[in-house]
Amino acid sequence: MSVPCVAVDRERGESVRSRLAEADVLDGDHQISVEDGTIYIPVTDPAAVPADLRASVVERDAAERDRPRTPAEILGFEPSLERLGDIVIVDEDDDERAREIADAVMASDIPCETVLNRASPIEGELRVRQWDVLAGNGTETVHREYGHEFLLDVAEVYFSPRLATERHRVAEQVTDGEYVVDMFAGVGPYAVPMAAHGADVLACDLNERAVEYLRENAERNGVADRITAVAGDVRELGNEYDDTADRIVMNLPHSANEFVDTAVRLAGDDCVVHYYDIQHEDDPFGPGTRALREAAGDDYDVTVETEHVVRSYAPHEHNVCLDVRLTRRK
Ligand code: SAM
Repeated sequence: MSVPCVAVDRERGESVRSRLAEADVLDGDHQISVEDGTIYIPVTDPAAVPADLRASVVERDAAERDRPRTPAEILGFEPSLERLGDIVIVDEDDDERAREIADAVMASDIPCETVLNRASPIEGELRVRQWDVLAGNGTETVHREYGHEFLLDVAEVYFSPRLATERHRVAEQVTDGEYVVDMFAGVGPYAVPMAAHGADVLACDLNERAVEYLRENAERNGVADRITAVAGDVRELGNEYDDTADRIVMNLPHSANEFVDTAVRLAGDDCVVHYYDIQHEDDPFGPGTRALREAAGDDYDVTVETEHVVRSYAPHEHNVCLDVRLTRRK
């Protein structure tokens, strides 16, 4: 394609290119070329070229520049996007703007098969959200996190890529041979890395589809022999699991307090509980600590080892984690 270029001796190329950049007239969509000692620098507007160079403007074929195109470059603003495998999630209340963003994502260099917009809050006991499919058609994907891969369908199960760092923090604490109970396991983003660290994991979830994905993910990551997956209400686990756990993960932040009695029933003599909660910033750790102390009663000493803010959840509300050690009293 023929575009206006400033043609100068090759030796002057860099100084002229700098002057054109300063004048904000460089055409970044086309490639600079060199022929017979002359350099051809594409420009966007010949009239905006500095006066002493204007006589050097010629029309010339220039190849299009092969450069990454981001949604922000296409849109002219930075959209709020989240990646989950090959799905891109936008977060827009305005349907028209959501579609505009989806078109830009599909036209960009982001590897993406599907664009979704949130169509509801995370709802119900199974903590699943509804979605608008803006581009593509599948809601199943493979997401990679800290070297493990998770197959999941966002329309059928809970999964948040924002918790990757937190899950890693907890999984890193696991030592070889531990017995872990993941009370609300989802598709396995705690259970799988913990098993990979050498734990035997009992992973429970009420959502049967999540448990199917969990079993598949245990296979995919080579830890199926270390994970026992159970579909159902964790409160109904048989008493063969009582007094067994060295570590318990309680990732059901809005209602974990309803499950502290079950956690204490499952705890062995020395057990670390990772208790997730969502609380007001004025007292983010108090309610969880009190709930665990009350459930432990006289049976355990309760030591809060870590009080950790995972992320801001809403104005003045935090998603927090308490790492609490339960030590059975003799
Ligand atoms: N730990 C997973 C993760 O990080 O992706 C899932 C966390 S999600 C916030 C909570 C999970 O608890 C959901 O998958 C939901 O189905 C499950 N759940 C809710 N009530 C439950 C119960 N009574 N017993 C077992 N699982 C339950």
